[in-house]
Amino acid sequence: MTLLQSNSATVTRQDCLALDANDPLAAARSLFELPSGVIYLDGNSLGALPKAVAAAVQKTVTQEWGQDLITSWNKAGWMNLPQEIGGLIAPLIGAAQDEVVVADSTSVNVFKALADALQRQSKTSPKRSKIISERGNFPTDLYMAQGLSSLLNQGHELVLIDSLDAYGTELNAVLGTDSAVVMLTQVDYRSGRKLDMKSVTQKVQAAGALMLWDLAHSAGAFSVDLNGANADYAVGCGYKYLNGGPGAPSFIFVAKRHQEHFTQPLMGWLGHAAPFAFEPDYRPAPGMIRAICGSPTVLSLIALRAAIQTFHTAIAKGGLPALADKSTALTQLFIDLAAPLAQQHGLTLAAPAQSAIRGSQVSFSLANGQQAYAVVQALIAQGVIGDFRAPNILRFGFAPLYVRYVDVFDAVALIAKTLNTGYWREPQFQTRNAVT
Ligand SMILES: *Cc1c(COP(=O)(O)O)cnc(C)c1O
Repeated sequence: MTLLQSNSATVTRQDCLALDANDPLAAARSLFELPSGVIYLDGNSLGALPKAVAAAVQKTVTQEWGQDLITSWNKAGWMNLPQEIGGLIAPLIGAAQDEVVVADSTSVNVFKALADALQRQSKTSPKRSKIISERGNFPTDLYMAQGLSSLLNQGHELVLIDSLDAYGTELNAVLGTDSAVVMLTQVDYRSGRKLDMKSVTQKVQAAGALMLWDLAHSAGAFSVDLNGANADYAVGCGYKYLNGGPGAPSFIFVAKRHQEHFTQPLMGWLGHAAPFAFEPDYRPAPGMIRAICGSPTVLSLIALRAAIQTFHTAIAKGGLPALADKSTALTQLFIDLAAPLAQQHGLTLAAPAQSAIRGSQVSFSLANGQQAYAVVQALIAQGVIGDFRAPNILRFGFAPLYVRYVDVFDAVALIAKTLNTGYWREPQFQTRNAVT
């Protein structure tokens, strides 16, 4: 497939249809339930519904729960879902099957991974007290670090870097003998800046710190190679590009070399070596099972499993490289088509111009935050769903499995119309909802 080059003024709708016709992932779209008349550019926030999910959940509810009742824990493999689904996610993130389990939310998994990293450092290098992250990181990651530090009460301190380039150059100034762990989200949720996982991890480990990656905006958008980068820990989200549904459970990765001594403080009974022995004292299960706390959220896990199975079916032809190529091509096309518009209406590209360091999303900022909010609302009302991120960001996600080139063309046309006509000024687009 020829990717469009940067002079897209001449790209026509017809050209986009031709790109769709040649897209190795074209068939994937039919595996998803997508409402007609909607261009969905928010799969980075809540992935679309894979068609297989409804039937899978229905079967679990009516047969496994309704008829087979408690026997389904064994018979339907409910108990094993965290490991099974972890094994299905592993190849998407460059991990071995026994390095990933699915449980709890991303926030809780950040807590577990960070807790292990800090305790591990405190045993060998008690002076390593700094948790390093970015000020612009997704707040829950920072909050979990703050909560854990205050709980531990051992003098840990969260150090925030103001802006980090793709190779982590600014880390040089803060990494040192007091660094315990560096926690970074590979793709910035606002700007879409993608960090070079390998070089950043190397830099962090060379300073004696441990590396925790948040893959919320990476997993399922392009191929990730955790073991290729020698990552220590990773967490990620089930409901964004993995399409597991609202509030889907999250995954946690701990490198094999750390598993023997992996200790996390949420020592629930299902992380125990023998949960049904009901012993009074905790003994951790081997491997990643000890990352599990309580009962698996079966209905959510069944939805997520069907979604990941859909994912594997969808990429069967082109593999992960096709996914990454399309992500790059879609975001580049959007940037190129929107460029004249951006100039005309004061939209500033808030995403990296270079595709190598850009995730599968494109953001623009507007000087006036209220206008940015209203424009997004007006677009949603007309069927182009993106989202607004405070203070002034218009964010559009391009899930390569179901967004078409023609969708990019049509979305830009609608953005142009909305800005050119001033339709966004209508009063109904001015009031903020609880969820933006
Ligand atoms: C979406 C997202 C989360 C979500 O956390 P939950 O606990 O699953 O709600 C966490 N971190 C990042 C970077 C995210 O983008």
